Amino acid sequence: MSRFTPDTIERVREGADIVEVVSQYTDLRRQGERFVGLCPFHDERTPSFSVKPREGFYYCFGCEAGGDTIRFVQEKEGLAFPDAVETLADRFGIEVEVEKEDPKAEEARRRKGRLGEALQRAADFYEAYLWESPKASKAREYLTKERGLGEEVLRAFGVGFAPSVWDSILTRGQRAGFSVDELLAAGLIQRSRNRPGSHYDRFRARVTFPVRDHRGRVVGFGARGMGPDAKPKYLNSPESEMYRKSNTLYGIDRARGPIARGARAVVAEGYTDVLALHQAGVEEAVAVMGTAITPDQLKLLGSYAEEVVLALDADRAGREAMLRAQRVAGSGKLRLLVAPMPQGKDPADLLLTEEGGAQLRQALAGAVDLAVFHARAIMDDADTSTPMGRDRALDEVVPVLVEMGETITRQEMIREVADRLDADPDLVAGRLRGRPAGAPRLAAVPDPATQEQRAAPAPRRPASPQVQREYKMLALCIADPKLGQAYVDRLSEEHFTEPVLAKAFGWLREHLTDPLEGLGEDDSQLYNAVARLQAVAGEPATEQDLEFRWRLLERDRLHRELRRAEADGDAPRAVELQREMGQLNDAIASGAR
Ligand SMILES: [Zn+2]
Repeated sequence: MSRFTPDTIERVREGADIVEVVSQYTDLRRQGERFVGLCPFHDERTPSFSVKPREGFYYCFGCEAGGDTIRFVQEKEGLAFPDAVETLADRFGIEVEVEKEDPKAEEARRRKGRLGEALQRAADFYEAYLWESPKASKAREYLTKERGLGEEVLRAFGVGFAPSVWDSILTRGQRAGFSVDELLAAGLIQRSRNRPGSHYDRFRARVTFPVRDHRGRVVGFGARGMGPDAKPKYLNSPESEMYRKSNTLYGIDRARGPIARGARAVVAEGYTDVLALHQAGVEEAVAVMGTAITPDQLKLLGSYAEEVVLALDADRAGREAMLRAQRVAGSGKLRLLVAPMPQGKDPADLLLTEEGGAQLRQALAGAVDLAVFHARAIMDDADTSTPMGRDRALDEVVPVLVEMGETITRQEMIREVADRLDADPDLVAGRLRGRPAGAPRLAAVPDPATQEQRAAPAPRRPASPQVQREYKMLALCIADPKLGQAYVDRLSEEHFTEPVLAKAFGWLREHLTDPLEGLGEDDSQLYNAVARLQAVAGEPATEQDLEFRWRLLERDRLHRELRRAEADGDAPRAVELQREMGQLNDAIASGAR
């Protein structure tokens, strides 16, 4: 990923209309210089969310979410910083510049752009063909009648139909200026085996599902043959510089926003499952396209979700796929849940009937921890009619229970297993003793650092009066940088008890005039703190006010030092500090300079 120039980022910060961006998520009302509305980051009845268009900032007094337009798009649409910049640039027609890259990288980027264009053109062609050609009537019928998919969802996902002729993309592509080599590299055509040197379309007489990356760029296709003799039933784009099945998730471009908002993803098996789920309002659905979920796919989901619900067919194959996912997830921070579909059905099948919708929602709501699912699967398969069969099942289930760690869930599973095997719970529990969970836990608690970076705001914890004074001081300095600089210079890290504010202070000492300029996204805690300070900064204060605030902090600091001196038994120092504090208290009380 190429880096944008600082100028570009600045242009986006200034050029993107924050009120317009935020208004897509909540209704804003003008109130003087700012706009207020219900917070799009937490549930509330009375508005505590405010946007300052002049500074380009938002801030919520309820959950303390805050930042600039880029930050907002990152949080709400689940995008990384560069993607958020590019999205806003696209939306507001802002010119972007990337840092000079080496010629090789530039060439690779240019080529990727070309291949992407060829793929997008093919997708457009297939889509138009599906809706306009009489030859696609069977395909339309299959999708709408047989699969129960509405035109709206089909168009939203750009579903199409590839004609049966051999060269529609080949000739169209070449006419549009693409070389045979480019069309090959894009996976749109293939070499003829019988006639060396000639080529033909890869997808023919198939329903096409464009597969996109998380930003919505077409990277390949899944294509379903029509009729019982179509072989293979599904044909995918070949692995290429554009398309890697193992790190692609079908539907991620449309699902990532909903996933980021709810911190939950639903993973289904195939293309039509995703369409059916979206049509049924489950907009956080993606598909793995017929393979077991891979580490890369889980990583991709992990950047948006905390919880992944596997909505796969609960037959043997499906069950094995889920258990493989469990091993893949390993030490990951993602919580894996299973919503087993009724035997032999996938979500698309289910949604064909009226009861199906309810069944599906029930299955999703009743999703269980993957380890619980695993333990139950072992019980279901066990031969419980003989003591030997029950022993074997116990042997098999013990490692699963061990992996669950010392949790309430495990305790309940022990009871359930004992019940199913007609055994004493103490016997089952006894087998677990002395067997520490070896591999990392399955349902590991999300790593706090990553959680911090995610949109979900931490519940508000009221700051102590001391910390509030620290906030106020820094906010006042930001509000009037010219005056504030003198106070920032007088302050020291010892004036701050809140670590992140001490850090923010260190940053502001050098960057008071434009606090977010050049502030990396890597330290999201620092970024949040500075963004919050800037958002609450408000109108410039008088010098008296700043002086007053400074004295309060200085008194707090002296007070802490006095405590230390007393603890150290340093009486002379304590007397000196008490004298200083007395003077300061007088000054604070009189308001004198
Ligand atoms: Zn909020």
